[in-house]
This record gives sequence, structure tokens and C-alpha cells, in this order.
Amino acid sequence: MKTGSKARVDSQTVSLAGRAHRRAVFLDRDGTLNEERNYLIQEEDLEIIPGVPEAIRRLNDAGFLVIVVTNQSGVARGYFGLPDVEKLHAALCRKLADAGARIHGFYICPHHPTEGVGELRTNCDCRKGKPGLLLRAAEEHGIEMGASFMIGDKPSDIEAGEAAGCTSLLVKTGYGKETAEGLPPGRVKIFPNLSKAADFVLSEAAQGAKHA
Ligand SMILES: [Mg+2]
Ligand SMILES: [Zn+2]
Repeated sequence: MKTGSKARVDSQTVSLAGRAHRRAVFLDRDGTLNEERNYLIQEEDLEIIPGVPEAIRRLNDAGFLVIVVTNQSGVARGYFGLPDVEKLHAALCRKLADAGARIHGFYICPHHPTEGVGELRTNCDCRKGKPGLLLRAAEEHGIEMGASFMIGDKPSDIEAGEAAGCTSLLVKTGYGKETAEGLPPGRVKIFPNLSKAADFVLSEAAQGAKHA
């Protein structure tokens, strides 16, 4: 009996190590976590949308990886550098940490297909609506896409999540109201803000746990 149970645990460990098994919530940044500002880069312009830190903390507590995926074409355009973006993300993390919320990774597309100069002006595979940022995160963290969600305020967020095999959800913060008007009815589930979208994710996760 003992041997059998040990064997089961071992095979489980092997299978977990060998394939994607973690659930994630991928989050857009601007207009989803923080108020939309054109080419936000200064910490003093970083205004967290109400309820966001608590929503992230609740996702953390339920065992979700929380991964930010963000298009920052300001880098390609020469408005700021990647280190500036990373500095802003450190500030964002500090604000979230005050509420006990944690982000497990930031994935940034610095490219633009037609703007800017040099090698960042490229038709990359990571600018959302393409799924490259999510796929890279999935590879590095062992994320099971079918059990994961992408939440954002633009059509490109919805498209990237779907192309990656996640369930995409739209929030009406940022550009979300405009986005909602442009989508066919029923195309995706729409929520007033991240807090409400997180409620949905957590209720889906609880359902899944019941059925498992
Ligand atoms: Mg956005
Ligand atoms: Zn890119």
C-alpha cells in the first residue's frame, strides 16, 4: 500500500515537472491596472485603478500566477528606454505590495511594426493581439493556457488571449467602453473593472475545483 501511494506521488511529480500545470491570469497594464495615460513612464503619473490591488491579492490567494503583459511601443518610438519601463514596474509592485498583492512576471513588447527606428521597428510576434508575450510566459512558468485567463481593455488584449488559448475577459476601464461597443454582442464577457473580472475568475476556478 505504502509503495503504491509513493509511486503515485512520484508519477504525479514527474508529470507536473514535465508539462504545463499552473493557472495564470494575464493582465494588461494601462487601462486595466492603472489609469490610462499616453505613454505613461513617470511614477507620479501612475494611478492605480480602485480595487486592483485587492483583486490581484485575491487571485494570488487562489493560487493563480499573475502576469502582466504590456505593449510599450514608446520604447520603439524612442520616448523612453526599457530600464525606465522596468523602474515604473518596480514602483507598481511597491504600491501593490502595500495591499499584499504580488505580480509574478512582467512581459513587455517594446516593438512597433511601422514607427521608430532601428531593430525595435519590426513586425514582431509579441505585440498584442499576437500571443508571443503570453506564450513566452507560459513556457517560463509552466502555465496551462486552457485553465488561464487574459484580462484587458483593448481588442488586442482579447485577440492575444484567444490566440494563446486562454479565456479572454474585457474590462470597461481604460479604453474598455469603446472596445465593448465595437465587439459583437456575446463575443467576450465584459466587466466594469478588474475587481469584478476577478470575481468571475475566482467563481470559475471554484466551479472547476468542485468538478475535479
Ligand atoms: Mg490597456
Ligand atoms: Zn514585440
